[in-house]
Amino acid sequence: MFIFNIGGLLHKHQGSKVDFDINAVLKLDPQDGVVLTEPVKGHVQILKLPHELNVQIKNLHTEAKCECARCLESFTCTVDVPLVSREFIIDLQERDIGENEEVDYIEKNRNEIDLGPMVREEILLHFPIIPLCFEGCKGLCDKCGINLNSKTCSCPRDTEVRLTPFKLP
Ligand SMILES: [Zn+2]
Ligand SMILES: [Zn+2]
Repeated sequence: MFIFNIGGLLHKHQGSKVDFDINAVLKLDPQDGVVLTEPVKGHVQILKLPHELNVQIKNLHTEAKCECARCLESFTCTVDVPLVSREFIIDLQERDIGENEEVDYIEKNRNEIDLGPMVREEILLHFPIIPLCFEGCKGLCDKCGINLNSKTCSCPRDTEVRLTPFKLP
């Protein structure tokens, strides 16, 4: 759960802060295509501003199951986000939200903030686009398919394509 008590922060004066650590399991949708294998950790600081809360998360960290883009082996990859910051507008009226505008907001009489959507978006955003089991992974032979990290084959190959069995975007 990513719903946290922020005490009476919304009724305190500008510049008031709360901070706390997070260490919780984040449930992602199957269509996110990512399976987290560790709880999400980080440090949250929330600052009260006149019309919004500034939410900063430092050292957001988790681990996920990945498939190497070159050799197709599964491995654990880490997702680290050093610092993210967002404004949660206080008591935003429905009419203030444009059709396609995505804004975070919090109701004035709430004592809790839901950081789930923010954490989810940041993790997906910082997920490796081309996961590699290690930097120098040799991948699979594009002729016989063996894993070139552990075996060698005698297939003729041109060095250019050897490291990229798939076309990179
Ligand atoms: Zn690999
Ligand atoms: Zn081969």
